Amino acid sequence: MLGPPGAGKGTQASRLARIYGVPKISTGDILRDSAAQGTELGLQAKARIDLGHLVSDAVAIAIVRDRLSRQDVAKGFILDGFPRTVGQAEALDAMMDGRGPLTVLHVVVPAQVLVDRLHGRRVCAECGTTADPATPDATTCAACGGQLIQRADDDDGVVRNRLRIYEQQTEPLVDYYKARPTFFRIDGNQAPDVVASAMQLSLASVMAVVQGDGR
Ligand code: AMP
Repeated sequence: MLGPPGAGKGTQASRLARIYGVPKISTGDILRDSAAQGTELGLQAKARIDLGHLVSDAVAIAIVRDRLSRQDVAKGFILDGFPRTVGQAEALDAMMDGRGPLTVLHVVVPAQVLVDRLHGRRVCAECGTTADPATPDATTCAACGGQLIQRADDDDGVVRNRLRIYEQQTEPLVDYYKARPTFFRIDGNQAPDVVASAMQLSLASVMAVVQGDGR
């Protein structure tokens, strides 16, 4: 799942993970959990996250490599927020060797819509689920009942930084992937159900080819 902050990657990744019965792997969630637990890695990461900077490739790659060593990814997995740099994408290609094709869903949303979305975004302090923007008065999470909060890095100044870093470091991944037959551009400026359907169509077309190969 490739796209700027606020594109809806987390929401859609959770949804796809439920539909296909595979784990969602969000490097942002894993880093925030480590920070909440007060591990050394987590506290170092928190300082960078709160300013909108990326953590190092070495840290992000180690997190994903470790997560992909678990058994529950055998049938597949949804990556949310990784890779974010060309170095991470190269490491992911190496990790994907022998695991079947990597499908890239590039979620495209106009910049002003992103800023508005991030400005109003509230997430659950317990489970990280993004609250439905259609219910702005809700104070608790519809999924688990936890308290809804604003993420520290959704602060206006930090948002501008994150969008700039996205353009500089992550957007080059579009060029890295776009020639692949498993790369899809998804219009993320539509209702969540419509975005989800477009993603499922793309994934279904890849799976049809894989199954046709007898793999
Ligand atoms: P996210 O929840 O995906 O928006 O990630 C929140 C923050 O975690 C980012 O702004 C980065 O500071 C850090 N982060 C998450 N994933 C990565 C990654 N793949 N590489 C570097 N930093 C990351």
